[in-house]
Amino acid sequence: MIKKQIMIRYGELNTKGKNKIDFVRMLEKNIRHSLGNLININDLYHTHDHSYINLDDNSNINEIIEILKNISGIHSFSIVYKLDADIDKLSDFCLDYILKVKDKVKTFKVNCKRSDKRFPMHSIDIIKIIATKILKQDLFKVDVHNPGLFINIEVHQDGIVVYFNSIRGSGGYPLGSLGNALMLLSGGIDSPVASFLLMKRGLKLDFIHFASPPYTQEGVIDKIKELLDILNIYQDKIYLHIVPFTKIQETIYKNTDVSYAITILRRMMFKISKIVADKIHAKAICTGESIGQVASQTLESMNTITDGINLTILRPLSVVDKQDIIEIAKKIKTYEISIRPYEDCCTIFKPKNPKTAPKLEEVLKYEAKADYETLIKEAVENINTIIIKKSELNI
Ligand code: ATP
Ligand code: MG
Repeated sequence: MIKKQIMIRYGELNTKGKNKIDFVRMLEKNIRHSLGNLININDLYHTHDHSYINLDDNSNINEIIEILKNISGIHSFSIVYKLDADIDKLSDFCLDYILKVKDKVKTFKVNCKRSDKRFPMHSIDIIKIIATKILKQDLFKVDVHNPGLFINIEVHQDGIVVYFNSIRGSGGYPLGSLGNALMLLSGGIDSPVASFLLMKRGLKLDFIHFASPPYTQEGVIDKIKELLDILNIYQDKIYLHIVPFTKIQETIYKNTDVSYAITILRRMMFKISKIVADKIHAKAICTGESIGQVASQTLESMNTITDGINLTILRPLSVVDKQDIIEIAKKIKTYEISIRPYEDCCTIFKPKNPKTAPKLEEVLKYEAKADYETLIKEAVENINTIIIKKSELNI
């Protein structure tokens, strides 16, 4: 009997030793969740090295493929045909297949891997038998360098698997498998891209946004929600914490030399983020910062801004060029949303000459001029948390 399946390869997961099974379970939970009712509960299972999805005539293969491409932790996957461990059936199947595509394919190459050493033939003998059978037709030639068709055979304990091509997955680790973190999301180009890279790596993200109405428009929140709708492809349920930031921002501009305003503004963002991160048990604070991009993103600035924040700070874009960031933004389709004009709380009072190397003593001097502790407490108490669920998007 020939079974049509999707075979999923884990890639980096293989290096995880005894933790591997936990990763596989988490990956399969994410796959089940993402595919929803495109598959039945028993259609997904794993053997020692791979996960499999059973397909039948009613399966919406194209839709399943598109979804699998975005699930982190999948290295690659193939549509495979699983056969009984019988060399005659195998060679018949390969011949049938190549004859079906004979109008397009003139050359082929057979690859074979035998992980079940109990199978009575060596890989090289399997390859010879299949190639000889196909060559007898006088329709095809072998081309080992650039074949029109790869015939890939893997001999596993539970049968023989044949496939003709592989689709690249997004790589990384299963979502959530590396813990959760708090991402600072503005409406710009960089932070959604940073979010994507972190999720792909296996981090589950909560999002925090600092809003300063009426200086920033209501539209910014809609924009943020739209960005999160897109990032929802990678993560099912998203928490967005909206911090009322107006009072703090006004206080900063009243009490600070304008060249230090951005530094203190960003310090307040981190202080609030740290409180929220601790509350939700996030193990890192993440941003879309890139070294050198703007005044607040020099190493000196970053040190002054995050002084006293006792938590790992992840900046996945720290060494990525803007042009490359834009390319990823276009690929994941956040770019068009990000470039829509909007006012961010950082852009509103943008000073002409912000400090590129702000001094901590100066900062502390300005911060002593107002009761930021109370303002921070008040802002945290008034955070509005919105839950964005995947299911809501399809309505
Ligand atoms: P982006 O394109 O992500 O807005 P940017 O190049 O405009 O980045 P900044 O405005 O200096 O850079 O912000 C740096 C990072 O700080 C952002 O990537 C984001 O992580 C965070 N950030 C900035 N503004 C906000 C905000 N209003 N709310 C939450 N996070 C913010
Ligand atoms: Mg910005």
